[in-house]
Amino acid sequence: MNVHDSQRIEHLLRGAGYQLVDAPEGAEVVVLNTCSVREKAEQKLRSEAGRLKKLDTVLVVAGCVAQQEGERLLKAMPYLDVVVGPDNLGDIPSLVREAQLGGRPTARTVFDLDAPSFLTGATSPGSTGASAYVTVMKGCDERCTFCVVPYTRGPERYRPADQILAEVRALVDAGAREVVLLGQTVNSYRDPSLGGPTPDDRSEFPELLGRIAREVPHLNRLRYTSPHPRHLTPALEEAHRALGVLARHVHLPVQSGSDRVLKRMLRRYTRAEYERRARSLLAAVPGLTLTTDIIVGFPGETRGDFEETLGLVEALGFVGVFAFKYSPRPLTPSLKLDDDVPEDEKQSRLQALFAVTEALTQRHLEGCVGTVVEVLVEGPSRPGARTVVGRTRRNEIAHLAPLEGARAGAVVEAEVLRAHKHSLEARGLRVLLEAPGAVVATRRRVALPVVAV
Ligand code: SAH
Repeated sequence: MNVHDSQRIEHLLRGAGYQLVDAPEGAEVVVLNTCSVREKAEQKLRSEAGRLKKLDTVLVVAGCVAQQEGERLLKAMPYLDVVVGPDNLGDIPSLVREAQLGGRPTARTVFDLDAPSFLTGATSPGSTGASAYVTVMKGCDERCTFCVVPYTRGPERYRPADQILAEVRALVDAGAREVVLLGQTVNSYRDPSLGGPTPDDRSEFPELLGRIAREVPHLNRLRYTSPHPRHLTPALEEAHRALGVLARHVHLPVQSGSDRVLKRMLRRYTRAEYERRARSLLAAVPGLTLTTDIIVGFPGETRGDFEETLGLVEALGFVGVFAFKYSPRPLTPSLKLDDDVPEDEKQSRLQALFAVTEALTQRHLEGCVGTVVEVLVEGPSRPGARTVVGRTRRNEIAHLAPLEGARAGAVVEAEVLRAHKHSLEARGLRVLLEAPGAVVATRRRVALPVVAV
């Protein structure tokens, strides 16, 4: 979601006449887009901003830390020029212009509740990679006790389905092969143009998937992130069964395998409910892969609770796990709970979890050796490399030896030769879909776009 916000900022500033440069030194404007989901992300802002303050540039802090801290950030870092929350990105060009004209530092952190705007990234030929993001909703109405997102991104607001369809169509026309639908709880989606909540409080996400599949037939792959387990309904499962365009991979954050902890987290499902829904989805789509997010060391988590999490990870065989140590966040309900799991115990649980998940990933990747997969090529494996990298329909990362026509945006049939730690090595057999001319190779961005006139 933050990567996509950065793409939107880039698009807005390009529209105002700016260009991307490679380094902050010499740039007229620098934008730091921020995350506050864990404390570490916030610390990164502080050290990066400290480094940049020496430069003669307009310095903008955007995103969730900006929203969370607002004016306080201007007080703590008087060298900042502009602070903008996730709903105010559209104001960046004009606020930058004011700062350049000598205006006072400004913080703008207002949620657009009455008329929510949904900015897009670039959708013209020559500006999209093989895979592109499309926002379907923003904000979050869940109240998971550990999570700052409802306070930094506001309540749920949904984008009209016609707008979503139009953006997907534009991206596919521009050469995108894959679209990733984005939302904090993406599968709670409702179409606001249909007029208010449906009587039975039903999500309209499966219908949205169906419409995209029918109305944009040239789309090669459709993914979404992140779904909330409580909205993994039979209708969504049916969509997975029926729609060949849907990737055979779902990232389904579980957070914990202990009912006690799930309850304290206010996740609104039990371990058994999660397991039932996940297993039902696995049965509906043969070969589907599941990945998840887990927090270790949540307040009150005992060793026994943690063992239950390990048990669930093994039972469901997640092929990838993003695991985090609990990090107390401002404004969240769990601040009232004692952060009582000692740091070294959190660390040892994280290590134990990694050991289990690495083994599962390895077993899964080794199981792919000898099979034939479809790889959507995203770009060179490394800048300047002749080998290319892409993803399979089940979201495994696959590196391919050079093959005529296997450029960004091509879909290649390939035989898996070897399993590495986090990726597959494969031999391209034939190009199934030519690369559309205009697709750009995706650069892996470690830093955010730097913009200069
Ligand atoms: N909307 C998604 C979560 C988005 S945040 C969902 O409902 O699952 C991405 C991940 O960061 C979460 O899944 C969680 O595992 C982790 N996370 C969020 N808050 C955290 C905190 N306070 N400490 C540690 N990890 C956290």
